[in-house]
Amino acid sequence: TITAGVIAVQGDVSEHATAVEAAAAAHDQTTEIVEIRDSGRVPDCDVLLVPGGESTTISRLLAEEGIAPEIRDHVAAGKPMLATCAGLIVAARDAGDDRVETLDVLDVAVERNAFGRQKDSFEAPLDVDGLDDPFHAVFIRAPVIEEVGDADVLATWEGRPVAVRDGPVVGTAFHPELTGDHRIHDLAFFE
Ligand code: GLN
Repeated sequence: TITAGVIAVQGDVSEHATAVEAAAAAHDQTTEIVEIRDSGRVPDCDVLLVPGGESTTISRLLAEEGIAPEIRDHVAAGKPMLATCAGLIVAARDAGDDRVETLDVLDVAVERNAFGRQKDSFEAPLDVDGLDDPFHAVFIRAPVIEEVGDADVLATWEGRPVAVRDGPVVGTAFHPELTGDHRIHDLAFFE
């Protein structure tokens, strides 16, 4: 059994839980989902998910509840984490916004709501490194990844990185949990 922690201080939780369960099942593994709102639970988790939502709120609550240092320890121990949209912003080195206290576990600099200024939301078929067929990606007021440091770009859209990997951490500017396709969760946790 894989213990999967979904950060649930704010943001979309249940779709991620479903996607991890599906990815685990494809590897003949069962899943125990832990919704994380307090400190003391992250250390029990094999994998972590930081969902989309509102990055200023998520980062504030992670700091207030003492969850942020536990997430840093999880990543430092080499355990997998998937951070999507607002989660990517929170995980980044630099969020370009003083109201976001980043975890600094993913070596990228982002700009919030930067795709969103052109268009609030859009969908795109992405070629993702490690996936055989395009992934249908849903972007909702998505961050732009402005700068990639010591991390690998897994996918780009219109010349901009939209999925990156930095060791055990995978970050996406889009929402991989919304389409019933669990291949990004698979890539993050089981590859
Ligand atoms: N715009 C949000 C933020 O900056 C992220 C949007 C999302 O997670 N869908 O926090």
